[in-house]
Amino acid sequence: MYKKERFTKELQIDKFVKMYFDPELTLQKCRTCTGYAKTWSCPDFDFNVRNYWRQFSVYRVIVDRVSMEGVASPKEAEERLAYEKPIFNRQMLALEKSTPGSVALYAQECEECQECARLIGKPCRLPETMRYSIESLGGCGIRLVEDLFEFGVCWSDGTTIPAYYILLGGLLKK
Ligand code: SF4
Repeated sequence: MYKKERFTKELQIDKFVKMYFDPELTLQKCRTCTGYAKTWSCPDFDFNVRNYWRQFSVYRVIVDRVSMEGVASPKEAEERLAYEKPIFNRQMLALEKSTPGSVALYAQECEECQECARLIGKPCRLPETMRYSIESLGGCGIRLVEDLFEFGVCWSDGTTIPAYYILLGGLLKK
């Protein structure tokens, strides 16, 4: 059994936009990703991301820190994270449903369909389930986590096993 800890903090959207909103930087990083523009949850978008944040007044930041204890290889660590990601995202959606006027933020890109409809030029098949991630909307997730909580984000160079991985998401509230 491994450890999974949840950390939560609320941030005013004004403060978020001022300190952590940098769409030029995040877009630059997204463009280097192999999944860039391959799902409807990824940029580029046909809407203004700044205006998207501005619809809300509070961001409830939610982070799950998933320990990698007992993991035997970097691949196994990735698999543990991949197992936890949909659980986390389902929980964000459940929170949204129980919080009127809110919208969930997921960890990472949407993986609801085996092959995203964007790849064949069709609209999203599950708009009621698909949600964006903070990074896709121009938020600097790493800096946000480091500033709000007493830990950073861990990486693997493909050979090392990190102490933990994080899942970052949350809830945007009116
Ligand atoms: S729900 Fe399916 S179609 Fe919509 S963004 Fe996710 S993978 Fe793509």
